[in-house]
Amino acid sequence: MVHAGDRAARAVVGPSDLHLHSDHSDGTEPPAQVMVAAHTAGLRTVALTDHDTTSGWAEAAEAAGSLGMTLVPGMELSARYEHRSVHVLGYLFDPEDAGLRALTDRIRTSRITRARTMADRIGRDYDLTWDDIVAQTAEGATVGRPHLADALIARGHVRDRGEAFADILHPGSDYYVSLYAPDPVTAVAAIADAGGVPIIAHPAGRAGLLPRKLVEAMLEAGLAGFELEHRENEEPALSRLRSLVSARDLIATGSSDYHGRGKPNVPGENTTTDAMVARIIARASGSAPVHP
Ligand code: AMP
Ligand code: FE
Ligand code: FE
Ligand code: ZN
Repeated sequence: MVHAGDRAARAVVGPSDLHLHSDHSDGTEPPAQVMVAAHTAGLRTVALTDHDTTSGWAEAAEAAGSLGMTLVPGMELSARYEHRSVHVLGYLFDPEDAGLRALTDRIRTSRITRARTMADRIGRDYDLTWDDIVAQTAEGATVGRPHLADALIARGHVRDRGEAFADILHPGSDYYVSLYAPDPVTAVAAIADAGGVPIIAHPAGRAGLLPRKLVEAMLEAGLAGFELEHRENEEPALSRLRSLVSARDLIATGSSDYHGRGKPNVPGENTTTDAMVARIIARASGSAPVHP
């Protein structure tokens, strides 16, 4: 579908939103429907970035093409630093790369065990079984806490995902179990080694910036930039990061992090400039954008 050899030097035209989820992970819509939502919002270039999987790429590419949009294939790779979850967006890597595949296989397998354990724990206090979670998860999808949230909603225990995350699914809850995730440097290197372009997602969220030493190690490992325009980024961390990005001439992106009905985020609420999309494409060697 997407081969590095197909890379005609075609300019990408915006508006571009480089972070959207489908039901191949914790979005609520199939990839084709995500593409329709993006197109309706006026976008012309989009990336599908499901958590720890590339399984939605083919459907997304076909749908984007039929709508006249360009697809930048991507993924949001799970990583962890101490007790903090770190999300590394990867663009235009080789989806067949053995190292990256081994890593995502391991994460997705651990996510199943973890979701089962959390479901068992929750099931001691609430009417909820593993079948309820299975019913909320598309076949083969990367399972996560959002699917547990959807099962809790279906059973009437909470109103929405936000309410589930605030309490039952919160990392501080007795029901919480962590998933296997590589350290951020390993995650960045895995994407870079697969010919992709690693960008830290929502890097200035409530937990604040990652330590400077870790950022330097990630840059050393091939980190290309940061998702500066994202609704979860907060001041003053964001301004500090902007300074770093401009001082080091890093790539800066802006995206919605659309999850269908799973979050209030809407396609195109933040966008990435054509110049930055061009830099991502120029830096990648693993795969190419899919043009209509
Ligand atoms: P997990 O990776 O399974 O621990 O789940 C984390 C995912 O849950 C993230 O990718 C978010 O998309 C989603 N998430 C986190 N907080 C919320 C929230 N308050 N409402 C809806 N989704 C959330
Ligand atoms: Fe998510
Ligand atoms: Fe994320
Ligand atoms: Zn995301």
